Amino acid sequence: MKDQIITKKILNWYDLNKRKLPWRKNVSQSKKHYYTLVSEFMLQQTQVVTVIPYFNRFINKIPNLKKLSKMPDRELIKLWEGLGYYSRVRNLKKTAKIIISKYHGEIPNNYEDLISLPGIGNYTANAILAIAFNKSYIPLDGNIERVLKRYLYLKKDKEIQKENLIEKKSIFGISSRASDYAQALMELGAMICKPKNPECSKCPISKNCKSYKKKDFDLAKITKKNKEKYFILKVYKKNQKYLLVKNTRFNFLKNLAIFPMEELSNPKNFNENLNFKMSNMNMNIKIEYLKNAKRFPSSYWFDKRKLDNYMLPTFTKKVVKYLEKK
Ligand code: SF4
Repeated sequence: MKDQIITKKILNWYDLNKRKLPWRKNVSQSKKHYYTLVSEFMLQQTQVVTVIPYFNRFINKIPNLKKLSKMPDRELIKLWEGLGYYSRVRNLKKTAKIIISKYHGEIPNNYEDLISLPGIGNYTANAILAIAFNKSYIPLDGNIERVLKRYLYLKKDKEIQKENLIEKKSIFGISSRASDYAQALMELGAMICKPKNPECSKCPISKNCKSYKKKDFDLAKITKKNKEKYFILKVYKKNQKYLLVKNTRFNFLKNLAIFPMEELSNPKNFNENLNFKMSNMNMNIKIEYLKNAKRFPSSYWFDKRKLDNYMLPTFTKKVVKYLEKK
């Protein structure tokens, strides 16, 4: 199958089957650029279905870059609450500010400038260039990676290294409809070449797919081991209130409200009460109930009856729920 043929087949399939997503709406160029920026930040660690209501709320409240650059952090974090990985929204605001001050409010349309912006790595730069600016880039997200691995039957360790996948993605060719094509490939992975039970009978490229020929759809993965981390979490309670502190100590949930915590390195006989997975970290947490609250900088008493009114990270909410169940 020649590249041009594969490109055409995937685009034809996309034209008939693409989902209606709020960031795919027919809007002005400047809105399209802004929508792409916001949606790509949201999609960095989160699935499309989860992102949709967040994206709609965000755009309704903050319809353009200028407004985003001036938005108070508190309100931004509230809008992001539940999506997790809060550094994304902080970086998004920083990026908006730089675009306003350095690029006259226009999102840069070249790789070097994009990659220099906070929160924009190789993947996001590729996605913005393809989707917003119709440039011939193929952003290698999890969906496209899966199609590629299956289509070419890439299984060995060296075959599934990122560098090799980046090289191999040229098999998909290029299209003058670069924006649609990048989204079409992502959509094919999300809707048809799904992690489990790919729907090969509906796939436009099944004819030349090596996994389909072999009837072997297992995906090889380079396994990243989660780091085991150990924490003592201190609970101070006064009537209906818990003491929370602003986290300036740990690299996760930076500047957000957490219970006072201490990290232990390789403790012996650690009996955890709670386990929480965050990024590549497996948090083993032991809870200590304490009576006399010492003075913590930037701390406050939080009323558990008003849990929903507070802007708290999911982690802290889960701890509160755990404590309340006890
Ligand atoms: S034929 Fe099946 S395995 Fe191959 S790319 Fe299509 S959906 Fe994936």
